[in-house]
Amino acid sequence: MLSYRHSFHAGNHADVLKHTVQSLIIQSLQEKEKPFLYLDTHAGAGRYLLNSEHAERTGEYLEGIARIWQHPEAPQQLAPYLAAVSALNPSGRLKYYPGSPLIARHMLRGQDTLQLTELHPSDFPLLRNEFLKDERARVSRADGYQQLKSKLPPPSRRGLVLIDPPYELKTDYQAVVAGIQEGYKRFATGVYALWYPVVLRQQIKRMLNDLQATGIKRILQIELAVRPDSDQRGMTASGMIVINPPWKLASDMEAVLPWLHKQLVPSGTGHTLVNWVVPE
Ligand code: SAM
Repeated sequence: MLSYRHSFHAGNHADVLKHTVQSLIIQSLQEKEKPFLYLDTHAGAGRYLLNSEHAERTGEYLEGIARIWQHPEAPQQLAPYLAAVSALNPSGRLKYYPGSPLIARHMLRGQDTLQLTELHPSDFPLLRNEFLKDERARVSRADGYQQLKSKLPPPSRRGLVLIDPPYELKTDYQAVVAGIQEGYKRFATGVYALWYPVVLRQQIKRMLNDLQATGIKRILQIELAVRPDSDQRGMTASGMIVINPPWKLASDMEAVLPWLHKQLVPSGTGHTLVNWVVPE
């Protein structure tokens, strides 16, 4: 089943959180000259047209990236993320939203490499076309979870693995933990960033328990909720689980989350959270 299309949701509050965390991790990896691998297991289409039928139908980006991308008081921690958004919109009008592969492409250096996988028959060709001329990138139509076995560890022994499934299948909540375990066995020093939606809080609690039970250390949870938890349908919050986060990530997110929450949720409902699930 591949009915999820990210084009309906591109640039929403969950993307803002995810891509802020992604860009801060990449920035930290670039403090050293040594190359690193950016592995995106569920890469999406790469670029999203915001006045498309899909994006306009939900209008989610209007309550997400549209509220912050040109904000004069945006905290400096958002600079690398917002620079990637601006680079795609040189006219100053918000036309395109960069997915995670394009944010990485904007930030990565000549020595770094990208491994991107996407399964969807419509999104894969779009992604492949984005990277036709980029020699740093390998784009494949393959199962993202499989990459955690076959592409790790990278020769450079440095890398960020972004795991961002659609959670269309309930089994994704277990598959992500199994996938991380597979990756970690091969590459224990890598940075792993897992995105999750809060639809039913119980699913996330279970996922975090499963992750703790793996024995993996240094697990940070970052969350932004736009509404209180609910047992009704729909996503009330989203978060990132980061394994081996760069040392500054927790304090950067503590600094930036209150500002983001204020812009994205003017009514003030919901919450923000930075929490060590498993410390050092
Ligand atoms: N990471 C992207 C971003 O931030 O711009 C968004 C990705 S979207 C949330 C999830 C994507 O995973 C969808 O495009 C879907 O087609 C794809 N997908 C679903 N199952 C997959 C699998 N097993 N392997 C690779 N891609 C998959």
